[in-house]
Amino acid sequence: MSQKVESGNKGDVPQSSLSSASRADLHTHTTHSDGALVPYDLIQRAHSAGLEVLSITDHDNVGALDEAIEWGKGLGMEVITGLELSVSLGEKDVHVLAYFIDHRNQDLLDYLTFFRRERLKRAERIVQKLNKLNIPLNLEAVLEQAGIGSVGRPHIANALLDGKHIATYHEAFEKFIGNGGPAFEKKYQLSPADAFKLITKAGGLSFLAHPGKYISELDLSQLIKNGLDGIEVIHPAHDEKLKEYYRGLVNQYFLLESGGSDFHGGKKNDDYALGVFTVPMHIVETMRSRLFT
Ligand code: AMP
Ligand code: ZN
Ligand code: FE
Ligand code: FE
Repeated sequence: MSQKVESGNKGDVPQSSLSSASRADLHTHTTHSDGALVPYDLIQRAHSAGLEVLSITDHDNVGALDEAIEWGKGLGMEVITGLELSVSLGEKDVHVLAYFIDHRNQDLLDYLTFFRRERLKRAERIVQKLNKLNIPLNLEAVLEQAGIGSVGRPHIANALLDGKHIATYHEAFEKFIGNGGPAFEKKYQLSPADAFKLITKAGGLSFLAHPGKYISELDLSQLIKNGLDGIEVIHPAHDEKLKEYYRGLVNQYFLLESGGSDFHGGKKNDDYALGVFTVPMHIVETMRSRLFT
């Protein structure tokens, strides 16, 4: 299988078939979730970085895709539809990447609207809890932080920081909104099985995002049974050893491989420049052929 090949430096695909210029970044964010760049600026940057294919994978949001596809066309760059869904695996939160989805699929849009409303209600409950703890934070300050993206704990932490209710961003989690903290509230729990069903119905493929060090093989086999198609192998949080480990699991379980930069527009400390964390085109073609042949 072609995904056994490591970035064109070994294996059964001849080097000459892998143009070094043809590379894809399958994990990026815009202002439609927690990225710093509007879709147009992200597409421009990706194009300048020499990427031929880009997927925008905003958290629980597909709002960037229509215009991004159009901007991409204008520059001769393919934009693959994407989405990063928040999924609950027991007590853990995991991220599931969806690719090649019909981003106008009604069930998918209905779910995203529902999830967004649930997040807003949860932010209201967290603010109420903070008020009871004598922190005079108001919801408007939180929503201002969220902009057009859907609201989450990082926005609450930033609003607390801006309002000088805390001294550092992390203090918000340590003192108040971290898991099990006095102002913590759970978010809506989407099961892996439901997430994969939603993605499959929208015509897409499901990948476990940046498993890092947290995924046990037991969890993974559960996800595979429920319909996971692949694992994100290339990601800034994965060193060589982890990449090798996940590539091994991909091959063992006949899964697909994906990868990307998880670029947030230079906003996060661990943001790397676009073009550093990419996958060769044969990875994209293998994904496509799983769906369209
Ligand atoms: P939410 O989806 O609203 O529960 O927010 C989850 C996000 O909050 C994570 O992706 C992190 O960015 C952030 N977060 C959660 N726990 C912590 C923590 N202990 N310290 C700093 N950031 C955290
Ligand atoms: Zn993000
Ligand atoms: Fe993620
Ligand atoms: Fe991400």
